[in-house]
Formats: sequence, C-alpha cells, structure tokens
Amino acid sequence: MRYPIPDYDHKTIENRWAGLWEAEGLYRALKDPVRPKKYVLVMFPYPSGPAHMGHVANYTIGDVVARYYSRSGFTVLHPMGYDAFGLPAENAAISGDIQPAVWTKQNIELIRRDLKRLGYAYDWSRELSTCDPEYYRWTQWFFLKMFERGLAYKADAAANWCPSCGTVLANEQVLSDGSCERCGTYVVSKRLNQWFFRITDYAERLLSDIDLLEEWPERVLTMQRNWIGKSQGAEVDFTLVSTGEKIRIYTTRPDTLFGVTFFLLAPEHPLVDRLVSGTEREAEVSAFRERITGRTEFERTAIDAEKDGLFLGHHVINPVNGEEVPVYTANFVIMEYGTGAVMAVPAHDQRDFEFARRYGLPVRVVIQPPDGDLAADEMSGAYEDEGTMVNSGEFTGTASVEGKEAVCDHLGRNGWGSRAVNYRLRDWLVSRQRYWGTPIPIIYCDSCGTVPVPEDDLPVVLPEDLELGEGGKSPLTTDESFLLAPCPRCGEMGKRESDTMDTFVDSSWYYFRYVSPRDTQGPFDPDEAKYWMPVDQYIGGIEHAIMHLLYSRFFTKVIYDMGLIGFKEPFSRLLCQGMITKDGAKMSKSKGNVVTPDEYLDRLGADSLRIYILFMGPPEIDKDWSDQGVEGAHRFLGRVWRMVHERYLPLVSGAVGVTPEEGPHRAMRSLTHRTIRDVTQDVEQFAFNTAISFIMELVNGIYNYTSEVAVVQAALEEAVETSLSLLAPFAPFICEELWHAIGKKESVHEQPWPSFDSELASPEEITLVVQVNGKVRDRLTVPAGISPEEMEKRALACQNARRFMGDKKVKKIIVVPGKLVNIVV
Ligand SMILES: [Zn+2]
Ligand SMILES: [Zn+2]
Repeated sequence: MRYPIPDYDHKTIENRWAGLWEAEGLYRALKDPVRPKKYVLVMFPYPSGPAHMGHVANYTIGDVVARYYSRSGFTVLHPMGYDAFGLPAENAAISGDIQPAVWTKQNIELIRRDLKRLGYAYDWSRELSTCDPEYYRWTQWFFLKMFERGLAYKADAAANWCPSCGTVLANEQVLSDGSCERCGTYVVSKRLNQWFFRITDYAERLLSDIDLLEEWPERVLTMQRNWIGKSQGAEVDFTLVSTGEKIRIYTTRPDTLFGVTFFLLAPEHPLVDRLVSGTEREAEVSAFRERITGRTEFERTAIDAEKDGLFLGHHVINPVNGEEVPVYTANFVIMEYGTGAVMAVPAHDQRDFEFARRYGLPVRVVIQPPDGDLAADEMSGAYEDEGTMVNSGEFTGTASVEGKEAVCDHLGRNGWGSRAVNYRLRDWLVSRQRYWGTPIPIIYCDSCGTVPVPEDDLPVVLPEDLELGEGGKSPLTTDESFLLAPCPRCGEMGKRESDTMDTFVDSSWYYFRYVSPRDTQGPFDPDEAKYWMPVDQYIGGIEHAIMHLLYSRFFTKVIYDMGLIGFKEPFSRLLCQGMITKDGAKMSKSKGNVVTPDEYLDRLGADSLRIYILFMGPPEIDKDWSDQGVEGAHRFLGRVWRMVHERYLPLVSGAVGVTPEEGPHRAMRSLTHRTIRDVTQDVEQFAFNTAISFIMELVNGIYNYTSEVAVVQAALEEAVETSLSLLAPFAPFICEELWHAIGKKESVHEQPWPSFDSELASPEEITLVVQVNGKVRDRLTVPAGISPEEMEKRALACQNARRFMGDKKVKKIIVVPGKLVNIVV
C-alpha cells in the first residue's frame, strides 16, 4: 500500500501554529530561579507601513538567537515595540490628509501582522510604542531628571536648520555633504533658543567605558571614539597688543607654537565686534558675517571649502617668542570648537596654509620631516606629521613628540598656558519644532521663568487631533488648549514649551521599559532591571552605530548615576547587520526596486523567507536579493517535508533493529553528531548561512542513507529528529508540524538544544575500506587515530563483511593502518 503523502501546505501550517503558540503564551519571558537569563533585543522598527526586507533580515537574526538561547538552558527576554514618533507620520499627514496618530496606528497594525506571520518568538505581552502616553510619560520624566541634574538646559546656539523639514537637526543628522539626513535638502545655519542635553559632561566616560565593550564590532567602537573625538594639547594665552587682554586658544600641536605667523578668530567670536566697532572695518566685517550666515559648520570646515577671511586691524603677541602677528577672522574657524580662537601655523596646518597663500601671509617651517628639508617657499601644502623642531628657540633639535611635552611644561612654568583636552562631541540638541513627538514638559511663566512640569502632572499629553499648519508647521505653537497652562509655582497662566523632543530621546531608553512595560510607578522596575539587564545581545543596522548607541550609552550612565541600576553599559554584545539590496542598490520606492515580504509570505511562506534571508550570507555584509534564491529555500523545505513523509515515516516502523555502530549506520550517526557540533558553533558565531548549509548536508545524508541500505531505526530516528530540531529556530513552522508528524507531543521549540558525542562528531575521520578476500565489501567511517586492533575489530563486526564471510573461518587479516582491512577467509 502506498503511503499517502500530504502536501507541504505552508499557508495552513503557518496559520495554525502561529495561533497555537500565541494561545499557549509559548514565548513569555519568565524569571527563573534556576536558569540564567538572556535578553535578546533587535532595534525596534519605525512603523511606516508593512514590514520590509530589512526588518525580516534583522528580526530573523534576533529570533534565531533568542530561540537558540531559550533551548540552550536560558530564560529569554525577547520583546518588540515601535519607535512611533517622527517626521514621516507628519509628511503622510501633509500629503494624505490623515492625522499622524491615525497613520502611525494603522502602520503599527500592518507591521505587527507581518511580524506575527513571520513567526517571531516575541513576548507580545511586553509590546510598547513610544507614542503611547504611558510610554512618553516616562520620556518626559527622564527630561525632568536631566533638568534637575543640570543636564538639560536651554541656550542660544547656531543650529542646523532644514528649511524643508522646518526643524533643527543634530550634527549627527546632517550628512557629510551638508544635506538633511531625512529629506536631502541643503541644511542652513540658524541661531535659535534650543534645549540641549549636556552629553559633553559624559564625554570622558563615554570614551573610557568603550573598554568595557569587548563584544562590540571594532568598527563601531572606532566610530564612537572618533565621534567623541578626544584630543590632547594645550591652552595658550596670546596677548592683544592694543589692550593687553589675553585671548585663549586651544591647540593639539604646542610643538608648532614657534611657527605662528597670524591669529584667527571665529566670525561669531565676541571679540570681533569689539575690535572693529567704530573703525572703518566695521562695515566690511558685518558684510563678511552676512556671507557666512546660513552656512553650516560642515560647509565652512569642509576640506575643499574656500578659505575666506578679513584682517581686523589688530595684532597679538605670541608668548613663546614675543612676536606680534596680525589678527584675522576666518570662515573655517568655528566658535563651538575649542575657544573660537586659533593660532595659525601655515607650515603645519593645511587650512592655515591655504589661508596664508591666499592672503600673502608668511609661512615658517618649525618641524622638519625625518628625511626632508622643507623650505617654506617651495611648499605646496602643509606638513602635518611629526619630525624635529627647528626655528624654535631652546627647543630646536627636539623630536616633535617630546617637544609637545617640553613646550607644555615651558608654558606652565611661565604662566602662559597649560595642558588641556578637548572633545569633538557637542551637547545633544533635543528640541524639535515638530508636532508628532514627545512634548517637552516645561511651562514658561512671566513671573517664575522656566518651570518644569511636576512629575505628578505627567504626562503632558500630546493632542492627537490637531491639524498641521501651513507647510507642516507644528500646531502646538498655536493651539491654545495645549499651549496655555497654569504655572505650577504661582498659578498664573503660563505657556507650555511647544517644541517636542528629538525621537532619539524616545529610543535612548526603550530597552529599560521592556523589563516592566506596564509599570506605573517609574520608567522601569529596578528589580526587574536587575534581573534582565543589561541587554545580552543587541542587533541592528550599522546606520545606528553612532547616534542611537551613543545616546543610549549616555542615558544608561545617567540612570546609573541616579542609583537605579548597577551597570554602566546597556548592551553587552552587539551585532550590526548589513543591508538587503536589490540589483546592487538600496531598495527604494523612487528606484522601483523594492521587494516586499508580503508577496513571498503568501506565495512561499514565512519559513522559506526566513531560511533564504539568513542563507544569503553572513549577517554583517550587504546582500543582494534574488528570486531564485528564495525559491531555492522553498524547495529545500519541500525536501525536508518529503524526508519525513516519504522516507522516515514509511521506513522507520520496518527498520532493522541491530546496533547502529557500524557501516552506513555509523556514518549516518557521525554525520548527525557532526552537524550538531557545526551548527551549534555557527549559531554561536552568527554564521547562520553556513549553519543552514550544514543542515542541508544532513538532510542530503538522510536521503542517501535511506536510499542505499536497510536503515537502522535508531540511526534514522536520531538523524531525522536532529535535523528538525536544528532547523527549528530557522524555520519554526514546518519543523513544528513535522515534529508532531513523527509522533512528538511537545513543541519542538521547547526541546533542549541537541548535544553531540564528540567521538562520533570528530572531524578527524577516515574511511576504512573493508575487503573480504581482496574484494571491497564495505566502507566504514572511523576516527583517524584508530588503532590497528580497533580497525580489525570494526571490520570483523561490520554487517557487509559478515555477510560475505558467512560461516567461513578467518585465515588471515591484513591491516594497512589508517586505510584498509583485508579479511582472508
Ligand atoms: Zn529635511
Ligand atoms: Zn509662575
């Protein structure tokens, strides 16, 4: 009788199991007194529509890791939520006549539906959304804590302004070509009164604690270090000839102090006005400022930007040699870096060099390269490397590295200056002139000034039913029901802050909220945090390597300083995955090269999509989408399906019950155990593509085994169960279905991760040829170090040899160590 083989009907299977798992609460994160915990987190999505392929790649990686840990003896927290505030909702509102809140909620529905279809093992009871008042109440609470601790302040500053988005951008949100990260518009500079977080207070800790991040990719650590940009140098006071007042500069090259031939002030430096007011230069200087206004720091300091400046009619004295040098203002000197004043050393700084050549200023070599003989007149660019100090008074002949120290000592002894460090990192500008964000909990009162909203009055609720103004202008600036509020101190009518927070504030602490997402007493329960945190494995795109991670690290350190937690870094291990491209390019609607998960989920199923997206290549690299690839993944799953229904189920009941320790049975077992070992190793190292390859080989091995010989039940059972068990984190639906088809009662996702017998799995295996009377009768897989005695024993025991030996007497056994046994009968 032919065994009736059901079809691999992925739709029915995936629907059914998704429902059953959810009903059973299979993936609830539960504290466990015995098992250690793992907190596996993938950066939460911005809900802008259904899931896209990048989400599938990201979340499938996290899911395999979470499922692997939960089966390897850990209790696992694997949550999901939505980074739900932000500009796209407003843009949709402008173009589509839909309120941002409605648009966002619709999109959350869409992406949640897809995430559920994909079978991700989330604890859905912990789902959160940053636009939910119960969430942003605590974002506001953190703002108040920052304010209380002097870490939130308001100041006038030149800000990057995107005219198209109508809002300021953090430096981190301006691309290197000076365009807006969100919309590509050219960013201009605008002076505005803005809220900042004083992240610079944490610069040194953010830098030195990088040492704690041993399991982060090196390239991310480098990006963090560079962004913080610590430099060591000296502060030096120059003296203004006209008034005798000191002007302080910061330099990283005190060894070049003798090469100063002019002096520069940022156009915004307060001294500039004083120096020229009432002189004939005043008009010229304000015209120059006019030219600079609106240019961002990026434009002004770009390597190839034109060096532009004006002589201010004054001179300063260089303390080390008493020389008087002229004072200019220059476009490339920035008020926010160092002190806004610069000692210009054209021979050894490229920007100064270009400025000197343009304005005919002298160039003096004070560092000679090891093998060179620089002459100022012949230089075509600055020499910025180390060398030997020349033309430097008592320091002439000193190596520049030692010279730095010696000059610093010299400055200190004479009271001219001292050692100093500087950071490139600036304070975090958190104000946004936008509607769809967390309101800043501040009330301005005519009598009391800037008053924080009392904690008990939180949340300051964002009205969800307002219409955006002209050009997307925030309605919070005009809506009186929001804007007018009594002053918490004196009760007089005050005015609320109408700016909302940068959405990076929302995402800087969400991983804390997951540990107690419905907490009404605080942003998180410290006891729960103590148990679950820090995040053991964080996963996300390399595009977040700077801002999101730096801000999260900053928040964690502030929370640590508040005494709420005992750890200093939020994410112990980090994986940054690459992009999924199409035809070599980033998928985008404008290029028309978007492939959406939806169509594949319908046609081929979640398991096929999951397998393919991991099989494409190592997680860290960019990978190009291929339709053939995903079809191939689907064919593989069909093969797994038939392996159970065509091979295993018909055979297993009629299998031979002899010992499986020989011949093809042993080879089968060996392959099974090798596969456990290799897949385990690969999953630990996130080499998911090769892990899947190993499982494919095992499936092939099972096909071969069941084709060629009469199978041994134990060997076949072990192989088939193992293949399903190992494949389950990658393709959870089909494996659950087949697991039950082979007669198991419990979920495959609750089975312990298989362990292997290292002797069976040993990579040093050889094929032992077994001959009877010189004719090859069998091939055995044996450990490479096998002894001649053991070879003989195994050859004599193997089934095929026994068959040909019959009951004949063994005359002689010839053993060629490591190769062959010939049994002569
Ligand atoms: Zn923009
Ligand atoms: Zn007041």
